[in-house]
Amino acid sequence: MVEVVVPSTGSVVNVRGLTVEEGLKLTSSITLMSDTLFDLFLKVGRIIHTCIESEKPPFEQWVRTITEADLSPLIYGVVRETFGDEFPYSYTCPVKDQEVDFTLNIDKTVQTKGEINTTGEPLLELKEAAINNVKLTYSSVESFEDLVLQLAFIPLSLKDTLSLGVSSVDDLTSALPQLTKILTEEDIMTALFVRKISTLRSITIDSKTKERPPITQIIALKSFFGRDVSFIKKLTQKEFKTLMPKKPNPYSITFFVDVPKCKLCGQHHEVIVDFFRLALQQLAESSY
Ligand SMILES: [Zn+2]
Repeated sequence: MVEVVVPSTGSVVNVRGLTVEEGLKLTSSITLMSDTLFDLFLKVGRIIHTCIESEKPPFEQWVRTITEADLSPLIYGVVRETFGDEFPYSYTCPVKDQEVDFTLNIDKTVQTKGEINTTGEPLLELKEAAINNVKLTYSSVESFEDLVLQLAFIPLSLKDTLSLGVSSVDDLTSALPQLTKILTEEDIMTALFVRKISTLRSITIDSKTKERPPITQIIALKSFFGRDVSFIKKLTQKEFKTLMPKKPNPYSITFFVDVPKCKLCGQHHEVIVDFFRLALQQLAESSY
């Protein structure tokens, strides 16, 4: 077990490594390529959740209490406890534009930077807003659930996504208008709308409240975002902006290796370590 800090709360949690079964689940999902991105993110989320040994809420609640940036140290912990502390790794030298292989030693060479929430203020606290006879609750910062939610409305497989060359959900949603060959116009409009209101948690109209269903109830979610919130589409852009402002998340931890003198160009580089990529590489190798 290893202790890691969750940046959005500043709390310390214990993380264990993957079992063989969990490793196989991940590998099969990636090998199949037919899983949707939504399936894959849910699977990864569930596995990370089970690897947390400290006290934690059930999965459906937990995804609402963490941010995407919190995953990075958690995945670091899982990788450290599953595969050990030494790996072959590589970076692309920005000067020569060539790959440089090196040995990554987590305990000796990996450093961290970033900001952790030490204020004690909950980052994902729900806020209220009202317009006419409608009340909304929302979080001003996006949770991990809010991010996965957006993928539920983008019917793309892992294969589609890789062929588009997108590497993050942000890339994906900004690429949406160019996806008319794969998606219908309606798909795209819905996905963009859900992106706009991804932090919405409940809506009350004439004192009847509809709570957003949990991330695992996809049919109910589609009806919530399709029908229950259609009032929001009628607002002016200006009204909407003041109603549910989204703020960037200031808390994250980045892992990096300091390369004082690059083998190829002799210059100083800071190489970002992506533990998720590392986990996938290790799983792919160990499966043969
Ligand atoms: Zn270089």
